[in-house]
Amino acid sequence: MKHVLQLEGVSKSFGGLKVIDDVSFDVPAGSRTALIGPNGAGKSTVFNLISGVYPIDAGRITALDQDITGMSVANRVRHGIARSFQNIRLMPHLSTLENVMLGEHHFSRPWELVGSRKAGERARATLERAGLGTYPGQVVADLPYGIQKRIEVVRALMAQPRILLLDEPAAGLNNAETDELRRLLQTVSDSGITLLVVEHDMPFVRDLCNHVVVLNFGRKIFEGTPESVKQDPAVLEAYLGTPDAMESRHAA
Ligand code: ADP
Ligand code: MG
Repeated sequence: MKHVLQLEGVSKSFGGLKVIDDVSFDVPAGSRTALIGPNGAGKSTVFNLISGVYPIDAGRITALDQDITGMSVANRVRHGIARSFQNIRLMPHLSTLENVMLGEHHFSRPWELVGSRKAGERARATLERAGLGTYPGQVVADLPYGIQKRIEVVRALMAQPRILLLDEPAAGLNNAETDELRRLLQTVSDSGITLLVVEHDMPFVRDLCNHVVVLNFGRKIFEGTPESVKQDPAVLEAYLGTPDAMESRHAA
């Protein structure tokens, strides 16, 4: 495959303010790509543009060798693009299994009940593979935050994506939970799914990712390896004023 995910000259304005400005980057097939940058740089907006929440003003987005620029949100999910959100979007009063089964709904035909036995079995198996096999019956609200974040990943996997977008998956997690999440995402990557991850936790990015894109004020200022990002003058400049941001675990 030539392009798993590619942005070419993508721009987006909100109320006359250019929030994404002529951004181009490539997410290599099978990579674990990080999208980083200071707060307000436009990272979540890029996710909204890739998943089709907002139309783009200019440019082109290609996914899995197909131009998806005009595709609906639901069709992008069917095409293989799934995401988890910056804030947890699980149903707190439903069980783990029910939440994970809901991840399939985009994919099902209307006459295939969400509560079908097949969906339940697949949800159970996916939880099992993610090391969460002991939680299916538990109400999500009663579970630790770190487990909830991993359940969100499992729910996204129910759509059988080829590309998984994760917006700040490690935010609010302690070190042990962050390690568990990283192991889960490594497993997901090993299964052949391409990852695009927005994350502030630089040690997490260095441990997990093999490609990095940096945004600042809606523009791409760097694209390269996790090793070289720290030496890049434009990146260091962007992080000035937050001098520890490139090193500390939970810098925002
Ligand atoms: P990041 O995720 O990098 O912190 P965002 O993509 O959330 O940044 O936001 C980038 C800029 O776009 C911010 O100035 C934000 O206020 C603006 N923005 C994002 N979404 C909208 C929207 N729906 N309407 C207006 N402005 C928005
Ligand atoms: Mg954001």
